[in-house]
Amino acid sequence: MVSLQDSPGVLLDKKTTAGLASLNITTVGELLRYPPRRYMQQGHLDQRERLEAGEWTTVVGTITASQMISMKRKHGQFLKVVVDDGHQRVEATFFNPRAIRRALQPGARVMLAGKVKYFREQVQLSHPQWAVIPDGDGDAGKVVGSAMAAEMYTADTELAEEGHETAAFDRPIIPMYPASSEIQTWTIWNAVRRVLAQLPPQPDVLDDAWRRSRGLLTADEALRKIHLPDTEDDITAARERLKFDEALAIQTVLAQRRIAGHREQSVACPPVSDGLEAKLLQRLPFELTDGQKEVVAEIGDDLASTAPMSRLLQGEVGSGKTLVSLLTMLRVVDNGHQCVLMAPTEVLAAQHYRTIRSMLGDLAEAGELTAAEGATKIALLTGSMKTKGKRQTLLDVVTGEAGIVIGTHALLEEKVSFFDLGMVVVDEQHRFGVEQRDVLRGRGKDGVHPHFLVMTATPIPRTVAMTAFGDLDTSTLRELPRGRQPISTTVVPMGSSKWVDRVWERAAEEIASGRQVYVVCSRIGDDGPEEELRKIEDDPALRTTSVLDMFEELSSGPLGGHSIEMLHGRMPPDEKNFVMDRFGAGDVDIVVSTTVIEVGVDVPNATMMVIIDADRFGVSQLHQLRGRVGRGEHAGLCLLLTTANPVSQSMERLKAVAGSNDGFELARIDLQQRREGDVLGSLQSGGKSSLHFLSLLDDADVIADARELAEEVVSMDLPLADHRPLADLVDGILAPQKVAYLDKS
Ligand code: ADP
Ligand code: MG
Repeated sequence: MVSLQDSPGVLLDKKTTAGLASLNITTVGELLRYPPRRYMQQGHLDQRERLEAGEWTTVVGTITASQMISMKRKHGQFLKVVVDDGHQRVEATFFNPRAIRRALQPGARVMLAGKVKYFREQVQLSHPQWAVIPDGDGDAGKVVGSAMAAEMYTADTELAEEGHETAAFDRPIIPMYPASSEIQTWTIWNAVRRVLAQLPPQPDVLDDAWRRSRGLLTADEALRKIHLPDTEDDITAARERLKFDEALAIQTVLAQRRIAGHREQSVACPPVSDGLEAKLLQRLPFELTDGQKEVVAEIGDDLASTAPMSRLLQGEVGSGKTLVSLLTMLRVVDNGHQCVLMAPTEVLAAQHYRTIRSMLGDLAEAGELTAAEGATKIALLTGSMKTKGKRQTLLDVVTGEAGIVIGTHALLEEKVSFFDLGMVVVDEQHRFGVEQRDVLRGRGKDGVHPHFLVMTATPIPRTVAMTAFGDLDTSTLRELPRGRQPISTTVVPMGSSKWVDRVWERAAEEIASGRQVYVVCSRIGDDGPEEELRKIEDDPALRTTSVLDMFEELSSGPLGGHSIEMLHGRMPPDEKNFVMDRFGAGDVDIVVSTTVIEVGVDVPNATMMVIIDADRFGVSQLHQLRGRVGRGEHAGLCLLLTTANPVSQSMERLKAVAGSNDGFELARIDLQQRREGDVLGSLQSGGKSSLHFLSLLDDADVIADARELAEEVVSMDLPLADHRPLADLVDGILAPQKVAYLDKS
């Protein structure tokens, strides 16, 4: 008997166990959830797509020709056989063929495995592993072939002796696993068959009636049928069930996190009449949008309770999230607690500091003569601050003098201690991990957890929100403030100098009418690592215009008479701030920058953005970038310059961006175009996806169903003490190190 938690080593030899480990398979459960990439039907034939050169493949078919060929240069002969798998012809060559020649005769059914090569469009395998498949009538006891056949044969006889009927070649469908040169598909299959023979019936996490109502197989059936299907329907049904299990495992972890979070204590912050929040509302030069009112109310409901808020605020670029967060932070300050506003870059932190100070005016001048009654103090804390200023800020934070502390990662440092932290706002959340959230979570007074609000303008499709952000409640801000001018976007081919000249003319016109312009490039272009330079030499696609090149070109060209500055991540923070300050004040006409301006930067007088090599950026990223213009009363213009082929995927993406201003729609397109693995990959910081069956894009219904079930179970039994099989399922699918990707939200 074997259990899913066991190492495969309890049943299998060292070499196989090591081979499996090379595929990241370290438990029996992982082995059984390792899905075949494709299946071959015995009898009729595999409809698979074209094989890739270099791919390890297994072919089952009938020999149509077999011929000894003398080598011209060298002494000796080789055997060439042609195998027809009903779909295509595959040639195989064997050196030193004397011993095998007799077995590989026309008419024999064989299985060949080796690396694919192409010669004149013809698939070739040289010196593949081989086995002759017994035809059933004859002496079925003996399989002739190379090591593979011997292995298959041994597995078959051993399993037969133990009373299991699993003779490999008799099965109607043969699974083919993603293999490597370290471990072959048939070795994996043999391992699976041995394990299944020893696996006791598996308990099911799903209640029978519930499961049947959804037409799902039992867990036990699914784990067996995925490897030993009798029909195509078996395969589909098994996949559906295993997919559900993956969704359930993820949703269970997220529900645990969510519900555990709700059980912590925070400070309740009801509205305070006549507080700073009310005073700011009175002073605003504009009305809140309906969307802003709604979201402030939603957040307010959370804040009024002692259960810690964990809320994601997603809102279109320019929808006014900063103000929403400011109003809710003031509510917390009105209740006598402090707030943190954390930004991903120094540029953005500094900007938040400036805008919030100017919005609040004398309401933020505590300690100064001009302060309004009940005023608070805003502190800015970034990594590059000079020691002296920093010391004062830290003092303001620890004494509680500062009601709102704005900063970057520097806020996470241990020496930053708060007097009484009540709420944390993280702007542009996708740059922060959960560990960092947790650091701030622990900084409350007397073990009290601060409320948590994360804001992002990169809309997250529903399915991803349910997984990666599944521990957060969500608010959405779609509406833009009234009077906002739409941004018009146009794709401009860089190949045509006529068009490009027109772009710079247009920029000059914009500046002449008093506006400002961003020019965005895909790389900096200072002498970066040599490695990078070499890559650029090797790959013409990477030959892009850098910030430095562009700056030179514009300064010495038609725009030379204007004030042009550069902005990029490798500049000292002081310089960056200096440039941004002057751009904000209207003293700089053109900023040539990298994507450092991607998030949050708010200069309403900037109305035009030129994105060079636009095809180097993702769809959502382009949408973010262009959100920097058209933020004031003037219409925004975004020009996407590209060398992309007019009929290419890249061009399609750019046209999609030009054709829509709906960030949610664009996020969906983005997700469709990136491969699933990339999406998971970006969430899990480089690790390999452990999901084999579930698709974040296509399986919204499964995810929603699993989420509901998980919520129900976890709300009754948080530690899963009475739900052992579910706890095992979670561990099996999301081994501790693999849960990490859920954290990279
Ligand atoms: P984002 O949601 O992208 O972070 P911001 O918070 O930077 O957007 O807001 C964009 C601009 O809109 C700011 O200049 C802000 O002052 C302004 N704004 C916010 N709310 C309103 C409103 N209700 N009416 C008019 N302008 C607003
Ligand atoms: Mg913002």
